[in-house]
Amino acid sequence: MVPFNKPCLTGNEAAYIQQALLNGHLSGDGTFSKSCHNWLESTTGASKALLTHSCTGALDIAAILSEVGQGDEVIMPSFTFVSTANAFALRGATPIFVDIRPDTQNIDETKIEEAITERTKAIVPVHYAGVSCEMDVIMDIARRHNLIVIEDAAQGIMASYKGRALGAIGDIGALSFHETKNITSGEGGALLLRDDCYSEMAEIIREKGTNRQQFFRGQVDKYTWTGIGSSFLLSDMAAAFLLAQLEQAEEITALRLKIWSRYFDTLQELRDRELVGLPTVPQACSHNAHMFYLLLPDIDRRTDFISFMAAREIHTYFHYVPLHNSPVGKKIGRSHGDLCHTESTSDRLVRLPLFAGLTDDEQEKVISAVFSFFRL
Ligand SMILES: *Cc1c(COP(=O)(O)O)cnc(C)c1O
Repeated sequence: MVPFNKPCLTGNEAAYIQQALLNGHLSGDGTFSKSCHNWLESTTGASKALLTHSCTGALDIAAILSEVGQGDEVIMPSFTFVSTANAFALRGATPIFVDIRPDTQNIDETKIEEAITERTKAIVPVHYAGVSCEMDVIMDIARRHNLIVIEDAAQGIMASYKGRALGAIGDIGALSFHETKNITSGEGGALLLRDDCYSEMAEIIREKGTNRQQFFRGQVDKYTWTGIGSSFLLSDMAAAFLLAQLEQAEEITALRLKIWSRYFDTLQELRDRELVGLPTVPQACSHNAHMFYLLLPDIDRRTDFISFMAAREIHTYFHYVPLHNSPVGKKIGRSHGDLCHTESTSDRLVRLPLFAGLTDDEQEKVISAVFSFFRL
């Protein structure tokens, strides 16, 4: 059996958790959390990184920070995970869905400006598969229209755009350390803040709406309720696990890139014969091999492909149901124009097994099964 994903262990996780237990500080923001914050700040260039229990939680903080509310509009792709939209929907804002580009499956930057109205407050680019959106264009639109940019960089750790780390280009960024991502703590995430202006408020929102962080730093003599917020911290035990992973982030990324490149090089033959589409990585992007996907001709061929692979004990996986076609998306969201590429990609995309521990033999098995599906 070739699984779709298997979390990769670096070997130091258990020892670091043991150390966290010995430290006697199990809740959030202990020494391991601080080391993760330092690692994230120095690696991404963000002025502040704050661990959260999930990327979903980091997006929730971002939505509160951006002060969106009822009647405000937030521009995002429809081809994304529900958390991208939920964070803003929870604040009462309307998600405005814009189509994706057929090459990167990222929001089509050329269609963003025409979706802007007086109610627009934010743009939320999602870096699909760890391949960056066209951030220079998006940042320029945002600057001209005075909009906040919140990057859903859930899939973007160790990836960059023109040398800048994903998640640290927009005003606010959100990373995920869920088990299905490249670097993991089981559940986990981080909020990245490019500039200092949001730091104090972000700390308050993350600490149940209190100024407890200022209290710990001795800046105030008691802490109290100073904003709206919730509990978004990651326990220091999970941070210990995460630090072991972050310290090996380069090695993990290199292993994934090697597997990705082998898929890409061998499967090019199928693309040259126009049997499948393969991922595109624009020149400006350095990606992190978060996923490898094929685009099949239509949904029936994809259904056949997934069964064909399953019969050979190879797990493949597709996503997303476009948000604009989901029950909640239909009720509270709005589409800007035709979302034809979103619908087409959603019908045709299938992901192949890709994780740091995938062996050469397992990958060989996947590749030869793909070729046999096409009778090659
Ligand atoms: C995984 C993912 C999320 C959610 O991450 P969690 O850490 O599980 O909350 C959000 N957005 C995108 C694009 C994702 O891939």
